[in-house]
Parts: sequence; C-alpha cells; structure tokens
Amino acid sequence: MSLIPDSFIAELKYASDIEQVVSAYVRLTRRGRTLVGLCPFHNEKTPSFTVYPEEGHFYCFGCGAGGDIITFIRRAENLDYVEAVRLLAERAGLNLPEDERDEAGRWKMRLLECNRAAAHFFHDTLASPAGARGLRYLRSRALGDGTIRRFGLGYAPAGWDALTGFLRTKGYSREELIEARLASSGRKGDGCFDLFRDRVMFPIIDVRGNVVGFGGRALEDGGPKYLNSPDTAVFKKSRNLFALEKAKGSKSSSLILAEGYMDVIALHQAGFTNAVATLGTALTSEQTSLIAKYAEEVILSYDSDGAGQKATRRAIGLFAQTGVRVRVLHMEGAKDPDEYIKRFGATRFKMLLEGSRGAVEFEIERLRSGFDLETAEGKVGFLGEFVRLMAGIPNAIERDVYIRRTAGEVGVSPEAVEERVRLERKRQRSGEERRQQRDLKMYAGAGAVAAKADPERERNLRFAVAEERLLSLIMRRPEELAYIAARIRPEQFVTSRNRRLYSALCTLLEAGRPIEALSSVVEMEDMAYLTGLAAANAAVRPQSGEADDYIRTILSHEKEKTREELVGMNDADWAQWLTSARRKS
Ligand SMILES: [Zn+2]
Repeated sequence: MSLIPDSFIAELKYASDIEQVVSAYVRLTRRGRTLVGLCPFHNEKTPSFTVYPEEGHFYCFGCGAGGDIITFIRRAENLDYVEAVRLLAERAGLNLPEDERDEAGRWKMRLLECNRAAAHFFHDTLASPAGARGLRYLRSRALGDGTIRRFGLGYAPAGWDALTGFLRTKGYSREELIEARLASSGRKGDGCFDLFRDRVMFPIIDVRGNVVGFGGRALEDGGPKYLNSPDTAVFKKSRNLFALEKAKGSKSSSLILAEGYMDVIALHQAGFTNAVATLGTALTSEQTSLIAKYAEEVILSYDSDGAGQKATRRAIGLFAQTGVRVRVLHMEGAKDPDEYIKRFGATRFKMLLEGSRGAVEFEIERLRSGFDLETAEGKVGFLGEFVRLMAGIPNAIERDVYIRRTAGEVGVSPEAVEERVRLERKRQRSGEERRQQRDLKMYAGAGAVAAKADPERERNLRFAVAEERLLSLIMRRPEELAYIAARIRPEQFVTSRNRRLYSALCTLLEAGRPIEALSSVVEMEDMAYLTGLAAANAAVRPQSGEADDYIRTILSHEKEKTREELVGMNDADWAQWLTSARRKS
C-alpha cells in the first residue's frame, strides 16, 4: 500500500506523456489511435506491443504484459511502486509530496543504517578473538586480508544476543531489528534473538552501495549450510545479485554468473572482478533484466554437477528473452570455479573463459551425450534433434557453421542436413503462423488473457465474457463506473477474478479515489489482465446502453443458478431459500 496521495498520482499521469515515456525504451510507430513497437519485455520480431495514448495504457499481445505508465516503469526499470512514481516525478519535474517521501524514506533509511551497523559489527568481530573460528574458515578457503576487507566479510558469534545486544546499545529498537530480519521475535512476548549465529557473514550490497541483507554460512553441520536474509522493505532477493555493485565497475562488457558467494569471491580475488551470483535462489527474469542493463554478454559458470547443468539450461532460456549473449563455461576436473582456480590457477581459468562455448554449442553437446553415435539409430536420433535445434537459429551463417562441423563429426553430408533444416524451418514457420492467427482470433474477443487455462471461466463462459466486457468498458471509460456500480454489486459477479477486480474498482469509487490510483491497489498481473481486456476491445467504440446489456447478462446468472439449485434442494434448504428470496424482493 503506497502512501502517495491520489491527487499526486493523477497530476503525475497528466504531466507524463505515455508516448514520450515509452519512446525512451521502445521505437513506436503510429497505427490509427494506437502506437505499436517491439515489446521490451519479450523477444519478438513483429510488433505486438501496443500503447493506447487516450487511455494511458499499454498492452503486449505477445506476452500479456500490460498496465499504466507506472506499471511500465516498474517493469522496465525493475522498481517498486513508490520508486517508479519517484522516477516519473523526476522526469516530469514534479516534487513528490515531502512528508510522504519522509515517512517511507525515513523508515527504509533506518533499516539500511541498521544493516550497515550490523555489517560493521560482524566484520569487527571477525578480527577479534571472538571471531577466530570464522577467520580460520576463510583462511582455509585461501582468502586474503584484502579480499576479506573488500567484501566486508564477517562473523556472527554463536550466542543468542551478541548482535541484538550491540544494536540495542546503538539505539535500534526491537521492532527495527525484526523488520531488518537481523533478529527474530522470541516465543514469549517482547524478547528477540539473533537470526545469524555461529556463521561467516557475507553482506549483500545493492548497486547504490547500501547493505541490504546478508548471507551466512554455517560453520557446524546441522541447520542450513547457507542462511540468507528473507525479503525486507529494503531487500528483494529476486531483484539483486551478489557483488553486482563491484562487477558493474569492471571494464568488461561481460559478467560471469556463478552459483555461490564463495565462487564469486574466489573469482574476484583471482582478478575476475566481473563475477556475480544469485542469492541462494534460482535465477529470475528480474535478475536477467538487471544483468542486461550492465552487460552485453553473460558467461554461465554453474557447478558441473547435474543440478548445475539444469540451472544452466534454465538460465539460457531466461536470457533468450533479454538479448544478452550467453556463453557456457565447461569445467573439466573441478566442480566449481573456486576449486578450478585453486587447482589449475587463474591463467588456466582465463583460457577457459576465452574458450567457453556459446549456448548453442552447449545444447549440441547435451544432445550428443544422449545418443550413441556409434550406431545408425543413434546418429538418426541425434540428427533429428540437431535439425530441430538448428531450425530455431535465425542467422543463416551461424547455422551453416554448426551444420558443417556437426555433419563432419557424425559423418554425413552437410547438404543433406542443410536440406532437412530448410524443411524444418518451413514447417515451424507455418506452425508459427497458424498459432499467431489463432491467437489473434482469441484476442479479438474479450478475455484473451484469461482464456488460457481457467476452468471457472470455461464453465461460465457467457457470464465471464459479459464481465470482461464490462471491466474493459470501465478501463476505457472510467466515468461510467459510477453508473455501473449503482446497478451491479461485486458479489453479483459470477467468476472470482473478475469479481475481485470489480470490487477493487468499486472500492476506489466509494473512497472517492480516481482510477489513476488503480495500479497502487492491484497486483501487476491484475493490471496486465485489465489492460489486456481493454486492449482486446480497443477498436470497438463504446456504444450507449452497452453497459446495461452486460449487466443484464451477468445478473441473469442468479436466475439460472436458482433454477438449477431448486431442483436439487432438500426441504431445509428450500425453506431457507424462500425466506431469503422474500427478503430480497
Ligand atoms: Zn511482450
């Protein structure tokens, strides 16, 4: 829930031209009342990203991203609601109301200060006798003093209140410690205890240089090996990368994506200062967009075990959406970069980096390992998969290189493989066209987005479509909401998602808030859904009496339901229905 007044949001939207703002990210071409361009949120060759300047919406028919100008900035810049508003306000030359900035800002600032104090405490402890265990561990991993200092590594003592006690004397309250997730509330009442105990501590620093969270490695067995700060008001795991604040300063146009803190630190110590890692979770699309901001190329250097290879394939898929070039590090004789550097040295690792294979080569290698190429069946099976892979590569020259090499290795004629690839591409293209046409047909009716796998919608199709049209109308002509709200209540909606969103709209109306405030009260996916509905009907000019038709259809559900239910009612239900029916009329 944001604390920014609606009047300011309305003013901000009025002052920001959606066409101009979006144009900074997407080259837009006018098409009638709308503007179209290549979607910045997914990879496409024909434009399906559409801006509706009159409504102030955008919607992508390819990936379903949609919303208002604030949603757009949130997605494009990876920001939360308030940050997006702040950025737009700066762009429009408006000042965020002072007290709002203060209240939310002061709280965040306080949590960041608390984190910083904690990082100092951990780091100082490491250098003191109390931190001997931690220091011994880091030394055993061959980390030097300079590295320990540069990464601000530390040690959290084994007691229950070492950090808590220290921060309390520095004036931080119990509530602040708990909000910063440095402490947990005790079972009984007002106590709290340290969350990180007997662990080597890795502070997580964002690109602005704030300490936003911690990773802690256990020194004893029992409990999780790595414990990471949960998400807080100042920390979202899915939107941060370990050491990015250091890596972004390296001169390289590529980033090395490793699996863990220790890999990254070992890489930096060996001179590869462009290494980063995720924070104990699987890679997210938010992180790939973040990487796309700072690098043209990413080198995946996950562990060489099964899990690492699986993560590699997943990462290749995610990066395909961003335009970042992907290479995959193939390590022989070591399970991770840390071990590799220790065993073979930094020079060998550098050679490995330079020789690392592209994503396609990784995939070919993977396919090959699944077949026995000594047998004819194995060759046929492998070539079938290989042809499908090649058909997906748009660049003809690149295709040619792989085809010639692989054909030579398998011992077949490159021309034959080429011909198969040509046929496969033709087949895929016509399949793609059919799919696009089918999608377009679907989008032509309301509810395109919902149509994917929503059994509730399927069961109540007639009512769901009427609801969608009604929501679409409200999105395009918010001034009709008061008229509509007077005629149908949210609980009379048949399907749950539409009911929930209509209810959110009615709540805004009742509170006297403008529709501009919608994106501050509903989730981004819901915002995309609503603008999707509006987009599906954008070409249709609203007709007078249109709303009444939809409302009539939705309300007819109650009658239909009643008829069905009456048949199967027992006496008690029947009596109750009669009383309630009498009360209604
Ligand atoms: Zn898209």
